[in-house]
Amino acid sequence: MSAVWALIAAAGSGERLGIDRPKAFAALGGRPLLAESLDRLDRCELVDAIVVAAPPDWEEPSILLAEELAASKVVACVTGGATRAESVRAALAEVPEEALVVLVHDAARPLVDVAVIERLLVPLSEGFDGAVPVLAVADTLKFVRDGAIVETVNREGLVAAQTPQAFLAEPLRRAFAGDLSGATDCASLVERAGGRVAAIEGDPRLLKVTTPADLALVESWL
Ligand code: C5P
Repeated sequence: MSAVWALIAAAGSGERLGIDRPKAFAALGGRPLLAESLDRLDRCELVDAIVVAAPPDWEEPSILLAEELAASKVVACVTGGATRAESVRAALAEVPEEALVVLVHDAARPLVDVAVIERLLVPLSEGFDGAVPVLAVADTLKFVRDGAIVETVNREGLVAAQTPQAFLAEPLRRAFAGDLSGATDCASLVERAGGRVAAIEGDPRLLKVTTPADLALVESWL
Protein backbone atom coordinates (compact mmCIF):
# COMPACT_ATOMS: atom_id res chain seq x y z
CA MET A 1 0.00 0.00 0.00
CA SER A 2 1.20 3.50 -0.79
CA ALA A 3 0.70 5.37 2.45
CA VAL A 4 2.46 8.67 1.78
CA TRP A 5 1.67 10.53 -1.43
CA ALA A 6 3.51 13.61 -2.64
CA LEU A 7 1.78 16.06 -4.96
CA ILE A 8 4.00 18.47 -6.88
CA ALA A 9 2.32 21.72 -7.92
CA ALA A 10 4.23 22.61 -11.07
CA ALA A 11 1.56 24.23 -13.22
CA GLY A 12 2.33 27.91 -12.66
CA SER A 13 3.33 30.14 -15.55
CA GLY A 14 6.08 31.94 -13.68
CA GLU A 15 5.73 35.17 -15.65
CA ARG A 16 8.14 37.03 -13.37
CA LEU A 17 11.01 34.83 -14.56
CA GLY A 18 10.64 36.33 -18.01
CA ILE A 19 11.31 33.10 -19.93
CA ASP A 20 9.54 31.45 -22.89
CA ARG A 21 8.35 28.44 -20.91
CA PRO A 22 6.60 27.66 -17.62
CA LYS A 23 8.64 28.13 -14.45
CA ALA A 24 8.83 24.37 -13.82
CA PHE A 25 10.89 24.11 -17.02
CA ALA A 26 13.28 26.97 -16.29
CA ALA A 27 16.88 25.76 -16.36
CA LEU A 28 18.42 25.02 -12.97
CA GLY A 29 21.85 23.42 -12.95
CA GLY A 30 21.39 22.20 -16.52
CA ARG A 31 18.01 20.56 -16.09
CA PRO A 32 14.41 21.72 -15.65
CA LEU A 33 13.56 23.22 -12.24
CA LEU A 34 10.94 20.49 -11.75
CA ALA A 35 13.65 17.81 -11.99
CA GLU A 36 15.21 18.84 -8.70
CA SER A 37 12.16 18.37 -6.46
CA LEU A 38 10.92 15.39 -8.46
CA ASP A 39 14.25 13.61 -8.11
CA ARG A 40 14.54 14.46 -4.40
CA LEU A 41 11.00 13.30 -3.57
CA ASP A 42 11.41 10.13 -5.63
CA ARG A 43 14.59 9.26 -3.73
CA CYS A 44 13.04 10.02 -0.31
CA GLU A 45 12.23 6.77 1.47
CA LEU A 46 9.33 8.39 3.32
CA VAL A 47 7.48 9.01 0.04
CA ASP A 48 5.64 6.12 -1.63
CA ALA A 49 3.97 7.71 -4.65
CA ILE A 50 4.05 11.00 -6.55
CA VAL A 51 1.54 12.96 -8.66
CA VAL A 52 2.68 15.93 -10.75
CA ALA A 53 0.33 18.78 -11.71
CA ALA A 54 1.87 19.96 -14.97
CA PRO A 55 1.31 23.20 -16.87
CA PRO A 56 -1.29 22.83 -19.67
CA ASP A 57 0.45 21.43 -22.80
CA TRP A 58 3.47 20.40 -20.73
CA GLU A 59 2.11 17.06 -19.49
CA GLU A 60 4.17 15.05 -21.98
CA PRO A 61 7.50 16.79 -21.23
CA SER A 62 6.72 16.22 -17.52
CA ILE A 63 6.18 12.49 -18.07
CA LEU A 64 9.35 12.30 -20.19
CA LEU A 65 11.28 14.08 -17.46
CA ALA A 66 10.06 11.57 -14.86
CA GLU A 67 11.14 8.76 -17.20
CA GLU A 68 14.57 10.32 -17.79
CA LEU A 69 15.07 10.63 -14.05
CA ALA A 70 13.84 7.05 -13.58
CA ALA A 71 11.44 8.51 -11.03
CA SER A 72 9.56 5.27 -10.54
CA LYS A 73 7.20 6.60 -7.85
CA VAL A 74 5.43 8.95 -10.29
CA VAL A 75 2.01 7.37 -10.85
CA ALA A 76 0.23 10.22 -12.59
CA CYS A 77 0.76 13.52 -14.28
CA VAL A 78 -2.36 15.69 -14.40
CA THR A 79 -3.08 19.00 -16.10
CA GLY A 80 -2.91 21.85 -13.61
CA GLY A 81 -5.70 24.36 -13.12
CA ALA A 82 -6.00 28.14 -13.25
CA THR A 83 -4.87 28.53 -9.64
CA ARG A 84 -2.47 26.62 -7.43
CA ALA A 85 -5.39 25.26 -5.38
CA GLU A 86 -7.10 23.98 -8.53
CA SER A 87 -3.87 22.29 -9.62
CA VAL A 88 -3.61 20.60 -6.22
CA ARG A 89 -7.27 19.53 -6.42
CA ALA A 90 -6.62 17.87 -9.79
CA ALA A 91 -3.60 16.01 -8.38
CA LEU A 92 -5.47 15.03 -5.22
CA ALA A 93 -8.12 13.35 -7.37
CA GLU A 94 -5.45 10.76 -8.30
CA VAL A 95 -4.77 9.84 -4.67
CA PRO A 96 -6.55 6.60 -3.72
CA GLU A 97 -8.85 6.20 -0.70
CA GLU A 98 -6.35 4.17 1.29
CA ALA A 99 -3.62 6.86 1.28
CA LEU A 100 -2.85 8.06 4.80
CA VAL A 101 -0.72 11.16 4.32
CA VAL A 102 -0.46 13.68 1.50
CA LEU A 103 2.51 16.01 1.10
CA VAL A 104 1.95 18.98 -1.17
CA HIS A 105 5.04 20.67 -2.57
CA ASP A 106 5.78 23.58 -4.91
CA ALA A 107 8.02 22.72 -7.85
CA ALA A 108 9.17 26.34 -7.42
CA ARG A 109 10.99 25.28 -4.20
CA PRO A 110 13.59 22.90 -5.66
CA LEU A 111 15.67 22.16 -2.56
CA VAL A 112 13.26 19.96 -0.61
CA ASP A 113 15.08 17.52 1.67
CA VAL A 114 14.39 14.52 3.86
CA ALA A 115 14.92 16.41 7.12
CA VAL A 116 11.97 18.76 6.59
CA ILE A 117 9.73 15.83 5.60
CA GLU A 118 10.73 13.99 8.78
CA ARG A 119 9.86 17.07 10.86
CA LEU A 120 6.50 17.43 9.09
CA LEU A 121 5.39 13.87 9.79
CA VAL A 122 5.84 14.12 13.57
CA PRO A 123 2.77 16.31 14.35
CA LEU A 124 0.57 14.08 12.16
CA SER A 125 1.02 11.29 14.69
CA GLU A 126 0.30 13.68 17.55
CA GLY A 127 -3.25 14.73 16.72
CA PHE A 128 -2.64 17.43 14.11
CA ASP A 129 -4.40 17.36 10.74
CA GLY A 130 -1.50 19.04 8.99
CA ALA A 131 1.94 20.56 9.38
CA VAL A 132 3.65 23.46 7.67
CA PRO A 133 7.33 24.53 7.64
CA VAL A 134 7.65 28.15 8.73
CA LEU A 135 10.35 30.79 9.03
CA ALA A 136 10.31 33.72 11.41
CA VAL A 137 9.83 37.04 9.66
CA ALA A 138 13.03 39.09 9.98
CA ASP A 139 11.97 42.37 8.40
CA THR A 140 9.58 44.91 9.84
CA LEU A 141 6.25 44.55 8.09
CA LYS A 142 4.34 47.55 6.74
CA PHE A 143 0.87 47.80 5.32
CA VAL A 144 1.07 50.12 2.28
CA ARG A 145 -1.69 51.79 0.28
CA ASP A 146 -1.04 54.04 -2.73
CA GLY A 147 2.66 54.24 -1.94
CA ALA A 148 2.19 55.38 1.64
CA ILE A 149 2.58 53.39 4.83
CA VAL A 150 -0.78 53.01 6.52
CA GLU A 151 0.36 50.83 9.39
CA THR A 152 3.37 49.02 10.84
CA VAL A 153 2.28 45.48 11.61
CA ASN A 154 3.24 43.86 14.91
CA ARG A 155 5.32 40.95 13.67
CA GLU A 156 5.25 39.02 16.94
CA GLY A 157 4.05 35.51 16.16
CA LEU A 158 4.09 36.15 12.40
CA VAL A 159 5.86 33.58 10.24
CA ALA A 160 6.29 32.87 6.53
CA ALA A 161 4.85 29.52 5.38
CA GLN A 162 6.75 27.23 3.01
CA THR A 163 6.18 23.88 1.34
CA PRO A 164 6.19 20.88 1.48
CA GLN A 165 3.08 20.90 3.66
CA ALA A 166 1.88 17.56 5.07
CA PHE A 167 -1.68 16.51 5.85
CA LEU A 168 -3.68 13.50 6.88
CA ALA A 169 -5.46 12.53 3.68
CA GLU A 170 -9.01 12.80 5.03
CA PRO A 171 -8.96 16.38 6.36
CA LEU A 172 -7.13 17.50 3.19
CA ARG A 173 -9.80 15.92 0.99
CA ARG A 174 -12.56 17.57 3.01
CA ALA A 175 -10.83 20.96 2.75
CA PHE A 176 -10.49 20.60 -1.03
CA ALA A 177 -14.14 19.58 -1.43
CA GLY A 178 -15.13 23.14 -0.56
CA ASP A 179 -14.56 26.63 -1.92
CA LEU A 180 -10.95 27.17 -3.05
CA SER A 181 -11.11 30.93 -3.50
CA GLY A 182 -8.36 32.99 -1.93
CA ALA A 183 -6.23 29.96 -0.99
CA THR A 184 -2.53 30.66 -1.50
CA ASP A 185 -1.53 27.45 0.27
CA CYS A 186 -3.17 24.15 1.23
CA ALA A 187 -2.96 24.73 4.96
CA SER A 188 -5.22 27.79 4.70
CA LEU A 189 -8.01 25.57 3.34
CA VAL A 190 -7.53 22.99 6.09
CA GLU A 191 -7.51 25.79 8.71
CA ARG A 192 -10.70 27.26 7.19
CA ALA A 193 -12.36 23.84 7.44
CA GLY A 194 -11.56 23.76 11.17
CA GLY A 195 -8.43 21.57 10.98
CA ARG A 196 -5.46 21.87 13.35
CA VAL A 197 -2.22 22.62 11.56
CA ALA A 198 1.16 22.55 13.29
CA ALA A 199 4.00 24.93 12.50
CA ILE A 200 7.39 23.21 12.30
CA GLU A 201 10.86 24.62 11.63
CA GLY A 202 11.26 25.61 7.97
CA ASP A 203 14.42 25.89 5.91
CA PRO A 204 15.77 29.06 4.23
CA ARG A 205 16.89 26.85 1.33
CA LEU A 206 13.24 26.09 0.59
CA LEU A 207 13.17 29.53 -1.03
CA LYS A 208 10.46 29.87 -3.66
CA VAL A 209 11.95 30.75 -7.05
CA THR A 210 10.11 33.78 -8.36
CA THR A 211 12.70 36.01 -10.06
CA PRO A 212 15.90 35.32 -12.08
CA ALA A 213 17.88 36.35 -8.97
CA ASP A 214 16.14 33.60 -6.94
CA LEU A 215 17.04 31.09 -9.62
CA ALA A 216 20.71 32.16 -9.51
CA LEU A 217 20.72 31.95 -5.71
CA VAL A 218 19.21 28.44 -5.63
CA GLU A 219 21.67 27.36 -8.33
CA SER A 220 24.55 28.55 -6.16
CA TRP A 221 23.21 26.32 -3.36
CA LEU A 222 22.98 23.18 -5.51
O1 C5P B 1 3.09 31.26 -8.62
P1 C5P B 1 3.79 30.67 -7.45
O2 C5P B 1 5.27 30.54 -7.63
O3 C5P B 1 3.41 31.28 -6.13
O4 C5P B 1 3.24 29.18 -7.38
C1 C5P B 1 3.62 28.28 -6.35
C2 C5P B 1 3.61 26.87 -6.92
O5 C5P B 1 2.30 26.54 -7.37
C3 C5P B 1 4.55 26.72 -8.12
O6 C5P B 1 5.32 25.54 -7.99
C4 C5P B 1 3.60 26.68 -9.30
O7 C5P B 1 4.06 25.87 -10.38
C5 C5P B 1 2.34 26.08 -8.69
N1 C5P B 1 1.11 26.50 -9.40
C6 C5P B 1 0.30 25.52 -9.96
N2 C5P B 1 -0.83 25.89 -10.66
C7 C5P B 1 -1.15 27.19 -10.83
C8 C5P B 1 -0.33 28.20 -10.26
C9 C5P B 1 0.80 27.81 -9.54
O8 C5P B 1 0.58 24.32 -9.83
N3 C5P B 1 -2.22 27.50 -11.55
